[in-house]
Order: sequence, then structure tokens, then C-alpha cells
Amino acid sequence: MSAPSIHADAPPEVVCDPEGLQYETGPQLGKGGFAICHRAKLLGHEHLGSNTVALKIVKSKMEPAKLAQKFVTELQIHSKLAHPNIVEFYRAFSFRSSTYVVLELCENGSLADAIKKRRYFTMPEIRRFMIQTCGAIKYLHQRNIVHRDLKTGNLFLDENMNIKVGDFGLAALLVSQNDFGAIRRTTMCGTPNYLAPEVLEKTGRGHDEKVDLWAIGIMMYTLAVGRAPFHAPKREDIYRKLKAREYSWPALEKFSNEITDDLKDIVSCLLVAEDDRPSPDHIVGHPFFKLGYIPLQLDSSCAARVPKWS
Ligand code: ADP
Repeated sequence: MSAPSIHADAPPEVVCDPEGLQYETGPQLGKGGFAICHRAKLLGHEHLGSNTVALKIVKSKMEPAKLAQKFVTELQIHSKLAHPNIVEFYRAFSFRSSTYVVLELCENGSLADAIKKRRYFTMPEIRRFMIQTCGAIKYLHQRNIVHRDLKTGNLFLDENMNIKVGDFGLAALLVSQNDFGAIRRTTMCGTPNYLAPEVLEKTGRGHDEKVDLWAIGIMMYTLAVGRAPFHAPKREDIYRKLKAREYSWPALEKFSNEITDDLKDIVSCLLVAEDDRPSPDHIVGHPFFKLGYIPLQLDSSCAARVPKWS
């Protein structure tokens, strides 16, 4: 018999924080490798209107050192951030030996959930999502913070379909200077399909905020095509393909999404050696963003269905 999953455990009906705030737990929103997330209502604050939050419950059976490391980073970094396109961090606390993180609720789930339903996104939607993402990344990089795990599963959508970058469990604050005067990290982390080549190269030179720019290129391809550019069933094949930058675009006649040459060009500008990748400001200055339609707003139905532009 296999061990019971921790995800099967329902959270208490009411969770209390040390300041006396009470959260009534609701349906599960999703689960990740480290946590399970529930919708929750802050009791006694109904008059505030936005009293519904996302309550992240940390996997209690995780190896203590790993858990501590992930949550210390998440708390230290995420709690200090304030940007319209970053999931708002409200507080973290322990209750009956579980750790809880209270976050802004993103009603429309993640872009990864939406891709499963939609298969691909149109060029106007990608422009809107990526301009917002670039704004959040610029904000992080200006503060010497590298997200390091940017992927469609960590880009959430609020009730107005605005991007909210979340999950800062692998984020890093670049603090030490290396021999070249630049600040770099050497730990290998991230999700295989999104890893930048320099993370794989064990040269000891380390890597820096440029890994997030590579991930933006991977996300743009993924949003347009419905799968990552270097996707392969085996991890070794993903790594081989990404080292060789071996990817192709689906043939037009076999694919219903109209992928513009400008999108292909910006992706090819991002999937290059780290020093050649454009900054978030340069990315949004590319003709893909400058010359094409950008919707001022998107309807929630876009999380599940292709919109019709009138
Ligand atoms: P982990 O740290 O384990 O990777 P995640 O942060 O990815 O956990 O959260 C697990 C799942 O919970 C996500 O895939 C998503 O479905 C849901 N989730 C996380 N944060 C929010 C949020 N702020 N609003 C709505 N759903 C969320």
C-alpha cells in the first residue's frame, strides 16, 4: 500500500493567525511540489469587499532543511515586494504545526492551467501578458532579485486577467560580487524546459538575472505554440536540444494559431547567449509589441476560450 498523500488532508475549517485573524477555508485552488493552495475568506472583514485570499499550506512532510530554505527565501523576498503584476504577499504564520502563507487570490488560475484549456494564445493576448510580465521582471531586477523559476505555471491571472508573477520559492537576492565585478549565483535550479544554457554549463562562472530573460523567450514560444521549444520526453534530450538551441515552429498549415514573424524574431532574440539577451525595456520596445494590437482589457472567458477580436 502506498503512503497516504498529504494533499488528501483537508485543512481545518477555520485557520487562525497569531494576531487573531481567522480564515475560513474553501475549495482547493491547486497544488504544487511544496504546497497546497485553498481559497479562504477572512472572517469579520466582509465589509472590506476583497476579503477572499489564497491560503497556501506548506507540505508538512517535506524535508525540514528544504522546507526551511524555500520558505525563508519566499518570506524574505516576496514579503518585501509591491508591484501591480506580482502576487501580493499578505502574511505567513504557523497554526497547529502547519505553515500558512496568505496571498492575493488570482481568480483565473495560472497561464499553465489556461494553456491546458486553450492550447495556445493569440498574438494580442501574448503582447498584453508579456508586457505586464516584463514590468514585473524589470522591478525585480532593479532590486537585484532574480526569480529563477519563471514559467507559465508561476504566472497567475487575477479576476481582470492581469498577470501576477508568483512563487518566489527559488528566487535569489544577488548579494556577492564575483571576480568580474558582476553579481552571480551558482546553484542549479528551475524547471528543465525553462533552464537557461548557462545554468547547465558547470563552468563555475555562475549565472544571474539573464536566466529570467531566457525564460521570457521560452514562455513566449510556449504561449504561441502550446508546448515549450525544447520539449522532449526525456530530460537529457531537453538539455541536448537547448544547448544546441534546436527548436522549430509548427508548419502553418498544420497549426491554427497565426504566429507572426515578429513573435518568432523576439523569441530568437531571447534564446541566445546570456550577454546578448535584451533587457525587459528592450523586449517591450521590439516591433512585436510596438506594431501589433494590445488589448486594454481581457475577459475572464479568455482563460478557457480563444477570444474573437472585433
Ligand atoms: P509550490 O510552491 O508548491 O510550487 P504553487 O505556488 O505553485 O506551489 O501553488 C500551487 C498551486 O496553487 C498553483 O499551481 C495554483 O494552482 C494555486 N495557487 C497558488 N497561488 C495562488 C494564488 N495566489 N491564487 C490562486 N491560485 C494559486
